[in-house]
Amino acid sequence: MTTEAPDLIEPVVGFRSWRTLDGHISSPYVPVRWHDPVLHAVCHQSVASNGQGFLHEPHRAPHPDCRCGIYAYHSPPHRFAKIDFRTVPGIVTMWGRIEVHRGGMRAEHARICALAFFDGWGGRQKRAADEVAADLSVPLVGYDDMQEAARQFGSSLPDSLLPEAAVRAKGAQAGWLRRLFA
Ligand SMILES: [Zn+2]
Repeated sequence: MTTEAPDLIEPVVGFRSWRTLDGHISSPYVPVRWHDPVLHAVCHQSVASNGQGFLHEPHRAPHPDCRCGIYAYHSPPHRFAKIDFRTVPGIVTMWGRIEVHRGGMRAEHARICALAFFDGWGGRQKRAADEVAADLSVPLVGYDDMQEAARQFGSSLPDSLLPEAAVRAKGAQAGWLRRLFA
């Protein structure tokens, strides 16, 4: 597998979901709590299959033959949050090394740029998301506005890099913070 990765000037925008619990958010499938908008990936799998053998060496996340890295989708997640009341969707920017897959990406670094709410949410759900967003100092936007809001944070991956590629993207600048809160 080639490790040549094109360099992208801007951070890449992605969409993902978290679980809210006791005023915090966590990754939905792994026990990682997001205390801060920025998260750096660490591989917790000491042995990962690469199809031909196994990687026994510790490695930087994301590794192409591992499943590590911070996950995001290329477009907003479906409205399953209406089914699970603890799920909150949001927008992230990703940078560093990024492994691109058909449905999404695994990145080395990610920053939460905004959380989102659904119109159908009850007051309790909306308040829970509101509190987490305030705690992380990120805006809370409507689900239907996510795609539009994401444009101010970075760029989507060009179609030419989908579905399988490894890319490198530059770090998120603080400029969007100034634009949002000025
Ligand atoms: Zn790994």
